[in-house]
This record gives sequence, C-alpha cells and structure tokens, in this order.
Amino acid sequence: MSDAIELTAAQAAERIRDGELSARELFDAYRARAAADAGDLNAFTWVADAAPELPANGAPLAGVPLAVKDLFCTEGVPSQSGSKILEGYRPPYTATAVRRLADAGATLLGKTNQDEFAMGSSNENSAFGPVKNPWDRERVPGGSSGGSAAAVAAGLAPWALGTDTGGSIRQPAALCGIVGLKPTYGAISRYGMIAFASSLDQAGPFTRDVTDAALLLRHMVGRDPCDSTSLAYPGEIALPQGVDLRGLKLGVPQELTGDGIESGVREAFNATLALAEQLGASVETCSLPHAPHALSAYYLIAPAEASANLARFDGVRYGLRVDADDLLGMYTQTREAGFGAEVKRRIMLGTYALSSGYYDAYYGRAQQVRTKVAEDFRAAFERFDLLVTPTAPSVAFRLGEKLDDPLAMYLSDVCTVPMSLAGIPAISIPNGLSDGLPTGFQLCGPAFSENRLLDAAYVLEQALGFDGSEARA
Ligand code: GLN
Repeated sequence: MSDAIELTAAQAAERIRDGELSARELFDAYRARAAADAGDLNAFTWVADAAPELPANGAPLAGVPLAVKDLFCTEGVPSQSGSKILEGYRPPYTATAVRRLADAGATLLGKTNQDEFAMGSSNENSAFGPVKNPWDRERVPGGSSGGSAAAVAAGLAPWALGTDTGGSIRQPAALCGIVGLKPTYGAISRYGMIAFASSLDQAGPFTRDVTDAALLLRHMVGRDPCDSTSLAYPGEIALPQGVDLRGLKLGVPQELTGDGIESGVREAFNATLALAEQLGASVETCSLPHAPHALSAYYLIAPAEASANLARFDGVRYGLRVDADDLLGMYTQTREAGFGAEVKRRIMLGTYALSSGYYDAYYGRAQQVRTKVAEDFRAAFERFDLLVTPTAPSVAFRLGEKLDDPLAMYLSDVCTVPMSLAGIPAISIPNGLSDGLPTGFQLCGPAFSENRLLDAAYVLEQALGFDGSEARA
C-alpha cells in the first residue's frame, strides 16, 4: 500500500476503476496515515473513523479519499472554521463543493486545520494550534489553508480542498511544494463555506500535480441555486495537455516581482521565466500600476466583510455559549472567549472602516482601488495571455517569527491579493527549492481562463520535474 500513497489521485482513480487497486484499502492506508499524524504536523482537526460507504463502480473519482478544510460544512461532522466559538458545531448540511465531489465519488477522509475563520498566512491563528510544514517542522506551512497544504505535501491525503480569499490556497501550496488553484470568483458555489469575506472567498484544490487540480476542479464548478453569486461555467474543465508554450504571451508585472521578494525566490522565478522562453513563450515586463495599493485595499475590504459575517456568532444559535446575567453580557462574553486575537483585530478594523464618518474615506476608497486593480488586469490581458509572478515573497518562515508583527504577516499576501480583488483565476505550481524549502510560481489569467492556465502550468510542471517525495517520507 505504501506504493499506492505515491500515486497521484488521478492515477489512483484509474487503477481503482481498472480493478488493480481497492478503494477500501487506499482509504484505510490514508486514514491510518492521517490519524497517526495527530501531534506531528497537526494537519487534521478530525479524521473519519469508520471506512465510509464507497461509491458505485464507475464513479469518476472512484472513492479516492479527500481532505477538506474545516470551514466547509459537512453534515454531522465537526466544522469549526478553526475557531473556539464554533466548538461542538456539527452542521445539518454539506457544502455544495464537498457534496458535488462526493457525488462524483470522492470519500471524506477528514477535516483539516486552518487559521481561525481563514484569517492568516501561517496557520498559527487556529484554536487547534499551529500546523507544521512537512519540509521543516520548525516552519509554518502558510495559511490559512495550512492543514490542507501540509496534509497533501506529506502524503496524509492524496488531495484536499481549501479556500482562498487573498491567497490562502496559493501561498500555502507554494510554501509546501504542491499545486494550489484559486478559481474565478463564482466558478464554485460558496454555499456551506463558513464565510470570511464573501466578495472574495473561493474554494479550490490542493494537489500534487496539475492534472489532479484539473480533475478536482472539473467536479466542483457550476451554478448553484443556493449561491446567487455562483455562475454557470462556460464549457468544461479539461485535463491539461501540451508539450510546449509556443505562441503564449506571458507578462511579468514589475510591481509584483521587484522589491520585497527574497533573493532565492526571485532566482527560482527568473530561472522558470527563462525555461518558459525556451519552451516557446514570449516573456515581457508589464505594469499593474495600482497593484502596490492592493494589499491596503484588501485589508479594509476583507475585514469590513468579516465584521459583518462574524456578527452571527453570538452564542445564541451555534457553538460556544458563555452564560451571563443578561443577554448582552452573554453576547459579549461569548465573543470575548470564543474569538482569537487576530479575529478580534479584524472585527475592529472592519467595524472602524465601515463606521459612519469613515466609510467613504476607508471602505469606499478601498472599493475604488479594487476597481482600478481589476482594470489594470483587464488592460494587461489585452496584451498578454497570462501574467506570472512568484507566489509568495519568501519561503516558509519560522513558527512564531511573524506572530507579533501583523503587518509583516500581511505582506505574505502581496503577490496573491491583487488577483483576489480582481476575481480572476490563479494557480501556484512548485518551482524548485531555495535553501531546501519550496518556492512557488504563480500564473493568472482572465476570468474563466482556467483551461489555459492549467495547460500552461502543466507544460511548466513537466519541464521543471519537481520531486516532492521528500516531504512524504
Ligand atoms: N492571509 C490573508 C488574510 O489573512 C488571506 C487569507 C485567505 O485567503 N483566507 O486575510
């Protein structure tokens, strides 16, 4: 069975369909690995104990186990979004993204650790404690979907679901040496995802390779009547193909590739640009003039939406309740005890940004910047097929290193937040090591250009030949 752990999810599904591998044995092997990890990476908050009912023969995902970020509601299964305030919550329904994958034959292996309410870049803001990076256990896996990224990188799950609001799929994928894809906003239903910032949140896959990312994405996209912001996907997600990048025009935004990018990360990035040229792409510098303001706008818009979304956690309907003499006391003491420091910080930032008298100066202005950032991308895509950047400015940093400095932590998102504001798809693929730690290469394209992105990422992946097996040892 240890050989089966080395298969990608698509390979495992194929072998199961061909009768060469038993879905039950594969599930049990991963279940054992996930359960045994408990105190080591701390990647899971819950692992399925009984082997689940397996799908009928011929299901496209063939029973291949799937790890799911804690914030996806899963019927009868703990779903706390990494927060103490949802202690004991077991939702009565399942998120659409998870349900669709189950319908396609995926089996739920477990729920993964995350930053509380998906706020963070290091997975140190979890009520369940920090997740560790399988490449170096003294370092963070990135966040907020750190458990999903670490689980896939370490071979505790063949693939996983995460969410990305400002980088939470791409950045941990980069720091853990795996593939992470944030789809076009609206491509996947948000129904049943415990909300952080509703105009930005998107679900997406964590996988070992680009083919698996396409396969998982294919079975999640589409309009859902339960999420009015979801859209019918134009066409189908194809499995990636291609042998070269001939004819592809790549733009390199100068604002996201200069100052602030660690030298090892920049070298790996430049090497891959040269490789892309050898493969036939044209590579040219371009400009996203408003991108330098994206992070500031994001840290007003996301907390503003979070402060509204998190108002529902008051001890009345779900999770933790701290009893008090009166109702107001119950509300405030529940929120005081249930929310962690970063969540409280965001609620305060967001409430301030939305308060009368400051609304125009902060929230209104941030929305204007958001529009400008989206216009910058639109203009760039008139000249280029895709834009490329490093995924994160540094390799995985040490646990605790940025905990006392929220601004330094927020800078981890500098290369990923602009695409989130613009609602466009972006993928991070492993781009080799710097000082023994993974770096990521990010490609982004216009809305609904997932197939083009996946094809280009696939060609680069084949040429780069990254080997992540060290982290699974
Ligand atoms: N790190 C960013 C934040 O803390 C992004 C989080 C995310 O994408 N969920 O807001």
